[in-house]
Amino acid sequence: MAGGPDAIIIGAGILGLATAYHILQGNCALNLLILERLKGPGRANTAKSAAAYRDMFSSPVNRHLSRGSIAFYEEVQAQGVPIGLKRLGYLWLLTAAQRERQRQPLNAMARAGVKFAILELPELTRRLPELRPGDISAGIWGRNCGILNPNQLCGYYEREIQSRGGRFEYGREVTGFLRDPSGRIRGVRVGDHEIPAPTVIVATGAWLGQTLARAGLEAPVVPRKRQLFAISAREGPLRRLLETPGFNDYNLLPFTIIPGGAYLRPAPASFILGFANEDQPPGLEDQPVAEEDFFENRIRPQIEPYFPAFQGRAPEYAWAGHYADHLADRTPLVDRLEGAIVVGGDSGSGIMKADSLGRIAAARFFGKDQVELGDGENFQVTALGLRERAVPQEDFVI
Ligand SMILES: Cc1cc2nc3c(=O)[nH]c(=O)nc-3n(C[C@H](O)[C@H](O)[C@H](O)COP(=O)(O)OP(=O)(O)OC[C@H]3O[C@@H](n4cnc5c(N)ncnc54)[C@H](O)[C@@H]3O)c2cc1C
Repeated sequence: MAGGPDAIIIGAGILGLATAYHILQGNCALNLLILERLKGPGRANTAKSAAAYRDMFSSPVNRHLSRGSIAFYEEVQAQGVPIGLKRLGYLWLLTAAQRERQRQPLNAMARAGVKFAILELPELTRRLPELRPGDISAGIWGRNCGILNPNQLCGYYEREIQSRGGRFEYGREVTGFLRDPSGRIRGVRVGDHEIPAPTVIVATGAWLGQTLARAGLEAPVVPRKRQLFAISAREGPLRRLLETPGFNDYNLLPFTIIPGGAYLRPAPASFILGFANEDQPPGLEDQPVAEEDFFENRIRPQIEPYFPAFQGRAPEYAWAGHYADHLADRTPLVDRLEGAIVVGGDSGSGIMKADSLGRIAAARFFGKDQVELGDGENFQVTALGLRERAVPQEDFVI
């Protein structure tokens, strides 16, 4: 094993990258190898993401994970590294019934110091003249929320990893695992080639179940298809909606969620529309494509009544990927399974939590119980384990 890697990370999505980065931050003398089956970093679900972030969660665990990551991303950008981070805010449009259901979670968030404002209807319609309010009772305006560019963020992590001696091998698919005589995972197989390593870290996102099955293990994570649709907003009423002033420094509409759950994500001269439908059955498609029917039947009828500016407008392009859903509590997991470290199950919030998850996975690697997140707060590493799990229910679900 002389000269072989001290650790192998499988998957160069945002979670594998953040983990590699924080392991090398802890010890840059380590020989770290990242194996990725695609031709570059972050090209799977990370690239397909809406890449929105928020700190508005009722669960303190979710809040810690996202706040720590946001603080780190803001610091990276403040150092002059462009990662497309824009604090646009989030705007949840709520009916009276939804507002009533969210009373307790919102009170809990206010007590925890989350920065948000409740915009009553007159104020909401004054700020958002393109809105036809219908049954909307108020807007919840999350301030420490926004969007970023996941490709630029991956590029940053990749460069930093390489500058600390981390090695990437792209176009290399892990097809199996090596075990030592005690049965612990001690390396990987790439086709006929065996690569031993004392630690293997599995960060294969929606393919976590498929990867672990190659070690005879089960993952409590399932892939679920998710779709996004881009509509140009270069002129007319859609441009006026996109360029709604007064919410942020960019004079752009915040990331906006309408009562049925569909969302509008501002992008350059366009909107990206999505809907993480609860009734989506688990399943992994090889080449997922966005479905016109999904847009016409599930998204358009939700959005048009509130924003008539979308009437008669069709998506110019669309794409689809998968969430990696941890069905038990929709919160990520970081644990050791038969010697390997597993990081995943982020359930659609992997960009906004990635840096914290990377720190927690690195802490697992170094055998630490506590880790400091990007905002300076400490986090109990075992809280995201499968056995000693300490994850409260998330109640801010709309
Ligand atoms: C449509 C959509 C919208 C989303 N919107 C948001 C959002 O607004 N905010 C947010 O925070 N999150 C969002 N997400 C979720 C976010 O994209 C994911 O949580 C995040 O990208 C997960 O990162 P990952 O590294 O685990 O997965 P991936 O980026 O998928 O990386 C896993 C990598 O493992 C590689 N791999 C798999 N198997 C093997 C193998 N056997 N050998 C070698 N390599 C392998 C894959 O090629 C891939 O590159 C969205 C996701 C989708 C699909």
